[in-house]
Amino acid sequence: MSGPDEPEDDALVLPLLDWRSRDHWSWTEKPCRYCDKPTQMRDSKHKPAHKLCAERALAQQAADAADAYQIGQDR
Ligand SMILES: [Zn+2]
Repeated sequence: MSGPDEPEDDALVLPLLDWRSRDHWSWTEKPCRYCDKPTQMRDSKHKPAHKLCAERALAQQAADAADAYQIGQDR
């Protein structure tokens, strides 16, 4: 049994950002770097980004990296 606040749970999930941190929130809305819609969220580099947009981008990056890795391995 482990609670949602234990770091082990995060390690089991994808390497997502810690959106619970106050560092990822701002009182000022700015256009999301991915979809240009206003958001109060900030990604790990303090750029405005929706959680979903950032996670989708991270997943895409991971997929691209995996593809490139597999192509490199196959040839
Ligand atoms: Zn967005």
